[in-house]
Amino acid sequence: MKNKISALKSKIWLSPPHMSGYEQEFIDEAFKTNWIAPLGPNVIGFEKDIELYLNHNSHAVALSSGTAAIHLALILLNVGCGDEVICQTKTFAASVYPVIYQGAKPIFIDSEKKTWNICPELLEKAIKERVALNKKPKAIIAINLYGMPYNVEAINRISKTYAIPVIEDSAEAIGGSYNNIKCGTFGDYSVFSFNGNKIITTSGGGVLITRNKEDKEKAVFLATQAKEKGAEYSHSTIGYNYRLSNILAGIGRGQMKVLDERVNLRRRNFNFYYEHLGTYKNISFLKEPKGYSSNRWLTCVVFKSKKVREEIRLLLEKENIESRPSWKPMHLQPVFNTFPSYLNGTSDELYEKGLCLPSGSNLTLDDLSRIVKIIKSYFEQ
Ligand SMILES: *Cc1c(COP(=O)(O)O)cnc(C)c1O
Repeated sequence: MKNKISALKSKIWLSPPHMSGYEQEFIDEAFKTNWIAPLGPNVIGFEKDIELYLNHNSHAVALSSGTAAIHLALILLNVGCGDEVICQTKTFAASVYPVIYQGAKPIFIDSEKKTWNICPELLEKAIKERVALNKKPKAIIAINLYGMPYNVEAINRISKTYAIPVIEDSAEAIGGSYNNIKCGTFGDYSVFSFNGNKIITTSGGGVLITRNKEDKEKAVFLATQAKEKGAEYSHSTIGYNYRLSNILAGIGRGQMKVLDERVNLRRRNFNFYYEHLGTYKNISFLKEPKGYSSNRWLTCVVFKSKKVREEIRLLLEKENIESRPSWKPMHLQPVFNTFPSYLNGTSDELYEKGLCLPSGSNLTLDDLSRIVKIIKSYFEQ
């Protein structure tokens, strides 16, 4: 009996790592060959795996984090002091930090209801206004939030019309697609994260995707302390120590082998929640518009009010289940709230009423049933 209770109360995390078993072989190989450092076969192999997976005009640079990848994309676009960069307000802070690293200024844009990502109408309005102020933005950082692609057609049209490049922050979205084109291929630069909470992980890491080989070479140069050719270390550019280690890249190679399975399991989670909670009038889900496929990194449900959201979150917490409010928008963050923003209320509403439910690919059907039962009990009390 005692065992049964503790088993029932075992911790359920929001989005924990899920190893496949293949990772260890690549790590063992690195140890056997003493390829602990520097860059080695696992880094090159991991980059190849990603390029093959995207299979579309993509050159991958393995880095220490997704944040580093966004930073390098901004540097490659010559974003510098005083420049303006358009950012989706509904995201995680790491999408925006690198704008500040460069001494540039973020301009925040709210989301559309259809995808929860950057709203094309507001984006165009903001660009027109910034241009009229003689402050044409240097870049647009668009997010594939929770794995749902942004409105690629509309954003690419705007990017072209105003000649402003797009950095696609696909940190959460490897495995998603738009009209059968994979996330990670939409932007002038694209970014993946392999942080511990993402759909696949290197324990910590990221990848920058460039659209040509020259840009990849520049990114590798900047990420390895900007060392110029020659035996002596000569530097005429400021560099960064941003490369991924050969050990961690080994984890990434093992994880790439099961990416499709992981996506299917995350989608299974969403479908399970939708099947069991979708009939409640007070709970809404983000559906996939036609042509959009989300990897369903996290299943985020939207309740009727902040009060209900919080009560359910605490109820789950009491049962040792981790859930988390939907991202607090950047225009509300103390570090960013003085920057200009173009709002329509969508991100505020999602933040207040949205809750991310446990979404790991290692959840069992028992875990999912346990979570659903608690939420149902709230509405049926
Ligand atoms: C996780 C995440 C990042 C940052 O990636 P790290 O690898 O943790 O640096 C950036 N943007 C979004 C949207 C993320 O979710």
